[in-house]
Amino acid sequence: MDLMEYQGKGYLARWGIVMQPGALASTVEESLIVAEDLDWPVVVKAQVPVGGRGKAGGVKLAGDPDELIRHVTAILGMTIGGHLVRRVWVEVASEVAVEYYVGITLDRTAKDHLVMVSASGGVDIEQSDPAAIARLHVDPLDGLSMEAAASLVAEAGLATDAQHGTAEVLVRLYRCYVEGDAELVEVNPLALTVGGQMRCLDAKVTLDDNAAFRHPEWDELRASVELDPRERLARDRGLNYIGLDGTVGIIANGAGLAMATLDVVDAAGGAAANFLDIGGGANAAVMAAALEVINADPKVASILVNIFGGITRCDEVANGIAQALGNVAARAPIVLRLDGTNAEEGRAILASRAPAGGSRLVVRDTMLDAARTAVELAARR
Ligand code: GDP
Ligand code: MN
Repeated sequence: MDLMEYQGKGYLARWGIVMQPGALASTVEESLIVAEDLDWPVVVKAQVPVGGRGKAGGVKLAGDPDELIRHVTAILGMTIGGHLVRRVWVEVASEVAVEYYVGITLDRTAKDHLVMVSASGGVDIEQSDPAAIARLHVDPLDGLSMEAAASLVAEAGLATDAQHGTAEVLVRLYRCYVEGDAELVEVNPLALTVGGQMRCLDAKVTLDDNAAFRHPEWDELRASVELDPRERLARDRGLNYIGLDGTVGIIANGAGLAMATLDVVDAAGGAAANFLDIGGGANAAVMAAALEVINADPKVASILVNIFGGITRCDEVANGIAQALGNVAARAPIVLRLDGTNAEEGRAILASRAPAGGSRLVVRDTMLDAARTAVELAARR
């Protein structure tokens, strides 16, 4: 789950990282009330779950109420990265001398946590030289010591005045990342102010959804996070779904098979519209829910159902699919690959039920054939 800036700042603050005072506002009037309790100048910031807000005009400084009214009026209702701005965060502005970058994420290849520091942060970080980022791999069993953080910061070439403060932020950030079950914590920019203080001007926090069971407090965060509408529906239906950008809708039983299906679609020259794992028991209710979620994606031009019968037998699965097709009309042609335990019986059931799915249901024997057909059908639309 990607937190918005204001939520990310609140999350980091739980580990003692000091933030500027601020509050949310969803109207111009609210922003004026919020600003009454703050010191001028303030900074007004669009709250959307994507970066690049500064470049899009969604971050502005206001020195007085008139300027605040002007900026809030302009920012509310903007669309940034496809997200409508419904709320702004208003906080006491910082007088910035230098902007740095700090971030921590999991490096799967190295099987370690990765701490990154750069002396050149801010809105142009993507253009800056990747070699200018100092990196430190941290073994989860060792953790990040103040000494290690300090030498990383020195290696990155931060101003002497900023080094101790940045190392302190890093150690807290690391604790937040581990104890707070984040996949990514990033502060860009971490600013050194003219007065010599370190300030987190922005915060990006991605929480590891697999750890949600031990964080009941995340429910509150989730309630205000803007989910992809397809993902919201999938969550309501209890499905393991991730929205992607392609045109071939995918339904598979088992996460490994679903991943492999994405690869095969890719190998066949197409692109998957989603990842969807319906788990072991592909009964009619689950299949119907899966079709409903796939139908909610207007980009889907064909649907590839890839089922491998193991403990769940293909004849049961076939009955489920036939029943689901009777209940939910798919918005695109379906290509089905059914293999494993009782595959013959399963295919026979679907062949006899074919009129239910009409000519829009095609059965293929192999995964590659099925993917090729699905990609062809999608291209024809
Ligand atoms: P992003 O563009 O979505 O990453 O949004 P940021 O929160 O990083 O804001 C964009 C830029 O606005 C930052 O890189 C800073 O340069 C600037 N900015 C944000 N807050 C302040 C502030 O309090 N004072 C000053 N002077 N600049 C700020
Ligand atoms: Mn930023």
